[in-house]
Amino acid sequence: MGGSLRDILLGRTPHDWDLATDARPEELQSLFPGAVYQNTFGTVAVGRDGAWFEITTFRRDHDYADFRRPQRVEFGETVEEDLARRDLTVNALAWGGRPGEGDRLVDPFGGRADIERRRLAAVGAPADRFGEDALRMIRAVRLAAQLEFTIAAGTLAAISRQAELVQHLSGERIAAELQKLLGADRPSIGLRLLEATGLLRQVSAELAAQRGLAQSKMAGEDLWDHTVRTVDAVPRDLPVVRLAALVHDIGKPATAADGHFIGHDAVGGDLADALLGRLHFPRVVVERVGLLVRNHMFSYESNWSDTAVRRMIGRIGEPALTELLALRAADNVGSGLPADAGALDELRARITEQIEAKAVLNRAGLVIDGNDLIKELGARQGPILGSILDRLVEVVLEDPARNDRPTLLLLAQAMLAEDE
Ligand code: ATP
Ligand code: MG
Repeated sequence: MGGSLRDILLGRTPHDWDLATDARPEELQSLFPGAVYQNTFGTVAVGRDGAWFEITTFRRDHDYADFRRPQRVEFGETVEEDLARRDLTVNALAWGGRPGEGDRLVDPFGGRADIERRRLAAVGAPADRFGEDALRMIRAVRLAAQLEFTIAAGTLAAISRQAELVQHLSGERIAAELQKLLGADRPSIGLRLLEATGLLRQVSAELAAQRGLAQSKMAGEDLWDHTVRTVDAVPRDLPVVRLAALVHDIGKPATAADGHFIGHDAVGGDLADALLGRLHFPRVVVERVGLLVRNHMFSYESNWSDTAVRRMIGRIGEPALTELLALRAADNVGSGLPADAGALDELRARITEQIEAKAVLNRAGLVIDGNDLIKELGARQGPILGSILDRLVEVVLEDPARNDRPTLLLLAQAMLAEDE
């Protein structure tokens, strides 16, 4: 039932199946030996042929007190009751029937017709349903992007009126929907809807401030248009880069002065950290996106030395560097330029060349380490040791042939003597 049937009717492959029944969890457990009762929401996991299926007892929701989840769940008796608490008509479908009745499509809210019209509409009165759980507004926008459906006028108007309720949602729930939205073929559909309804302002005032901010890249377009185009231009299989594309210019509204955005990369890195942290994205994701945002303004020239290329690899690291180039390619497209503008293809080739030559890029690649400096030269643990290692990396970046134990120890000895 729910989203899986919607996907079937659309000819898409459902990625999960929602199964529901009027049997209570205890009954399910006796029907399917080995079944696991997972939570208090009436979901039982049943193993079959090495796969697990989740079966949920029909429910009826109660007491939406704070615009998010029901305070209390009650088991229901009928599939219609269960469908009535679903968010959108296209998700309020079930396949099945009572014993002896034969299988049939259970469609009490016209979900099938809405699928045919490619239209999303709330089940029941939109204002009430969004008041019960504000996440449904973001889900509607996310599904509009994923399915390339429109949102019915009444439902859309209710979202615009009640966008502020998003304040009551946890960051995790918003992030999960945002991530699905960004995974659509054309995330721009969802991003533009987020902005137009005022949902965006609730999630990120800084991104919403991009609307109307002039930037000289494409005639008649503002910074938000540029952001949206940039996100669309990132390949779908690079979810971190899609996220980075969304926030790559988040620092521009705050730094805008005389048509320039000086320091927007650094400011944007901090704002991106704050936003993604608030949404509870995993720490490593926040860090990677921050790194991409802080470094997205690099400007490569053909006359860069190999040392400069190696320094860039050492500073950014792999695979972040591949992502940084993908972000720049998308940023180019979002600015109306060819993807490889700025000799990006040449830079990519030179990076590959250095990596294949196993050039030393950071401390880990040196043939000596801190212990050698302590044992061989009597150096002491501390900041001087680290600074010597960094200087040796610089030496080797300039001339990879010097990554040789006697050479480096001799150089280190001289450095130590200077620092003494
Ligand atoms: P996906 O393709 O991402 O799985 P989905 O619509 O199936 O999308 P799920 O999170 O798997 O989303 O939820 C399964 C079903 O539960 C939905 O199809 C919908 O019927 C219902 N549902 C999910 N979240 C809500 C909600 N916040 N309010 C009401 N019904 C919901
Ligand atoms: Mg689903």
